[in-house]
Amino acid sequence: MIEQGPIRPPSESKSLLLRLTRNCPWNKCLFCPVYKETAFSRRSVAEIKSEIDEIGEIIEDIQRISKKLGFGGKITATVISHIYPSGDRALIYRQIAHWLYFGEGSVFLQDANSLIMRPEDLAEILHYLRETIPGIRRITSYARSRTLARRTLEQLVMLREAGLDRIHIGMESGYDPVLSFMQKGSTAAEHVKAGCLVKEASISLSEYVMPGLGGKLWWREHALATADVLNQINADFIRLRSLRVPKSAPLSEKIETGEMELLDDDGVVREIRLFIEHLDGITSTLASDHIMNLLEEISGTLPEDKGKMLAVADRYLALPEKERLIYKVGRWGGAYRSLDDLEDSVLRAKIESVIHQWNVDEAGQVDEMIKEMADQYI
Ligand code: SF4
Repeated sequence: MIEQGPIRPPSESKSLLLRLTRNCPWNKCLFCPVYKETAFSRRSVAEIKSEIDEIGEIIEDIQRISKKLGFGGKITATVISHIYPSGDRALIYRQIAHWLYFGEGSVFLQDANSLIMRPEDLAEILHYLRETIPGIRRITSYARSRTLARRTLEQLVMLREAGLDRIHIGMESGYDPVLSFMQKGSTAAEHVKAGCLVKEASISLSEYVMPGLGGKLWWREHALATADVLNQINADFIRLRSLRVPKSAPLSEKIETGEMELLDDDGVVREIRLFIEHLDGITSTLASDHIMNLLEEISGTLPEDKGKMLAVADRYLALPEKERLIYKVGRWGGAYRSLDDLEDSVLRAKIESVIHQWNVDEAGQVDEMIKEMADQYI
């Protein structure tokens, strides 16, 4: 049976998932609930290759269905609607059919840190994957900075030549006290070393940053030091994923005991503004492509779009309090995607009516209602 892990980056939503290791070998980050009740384990090269064979067979089977229906092997919505395998394989058949239908040819290697594999084993898998599955155009994976910092340039070049196109690193912060408090298990210096190695090996690099992670105490230092680290790396992509803390994350206890005080949404926007202001001398593309971000439209390529991105934050922060409240309720309620949506009179009337029905009389209660709405996406 083909295994799949629980998560992938939002930008890999149309990717075929291939699980090389199970769960997270570190598993200590306080803000992260994903693998907490699970143990890390490795999969053998033979086991992974047999799974790649199985995926190849499913692709052939789906193409046979397409030919039988007269579509010549092309995967259309009609073909997908005719795929009804039974039992355990139903889901994987449909996932692979959708992968063929979208035609992006991207594969994401799970779980949290595929680079922990012996580089020679990983290279063997990459070669086998590209030889066995036709139409692959991009292979990407998550990796930890500490693991990457222990690899040599030659090893990373070997992986790129074997077909690894992009690495997603959960950098989160470039400020050591935040990294240490959060038990991230990587330092700012390791982030710089890992990121520069990946770039030097000509592998595309995506760095995830977590606005809000410094809380009220360290928000400035977190913004400034993270910008500084990224200025030294010049990653291809900087991706924002604002902090939200589910009950299952160990960080929720620290919040309850007062060891950490969270920023509110407006504070996070101020922090993001400061962070972007200090990104300098780089050509990275910044994306806010995660549902946890209040201002999804903060995106663009540096340096030319810096002013545009700062203007989005400024526009939001300059709104009267009531407008910011309407925007937050619209965004976390799933109705708004940009500040221009505030102009939509029909949506606005619905949101105002929701706020009116809350019937709350204290500002703190409103914040609690908004937090509940936003937390539904965790
Ligand atoms: S390294 Fe990544 S997956 Fe592992 S605990 Fe930290 S954030 Fe979670």
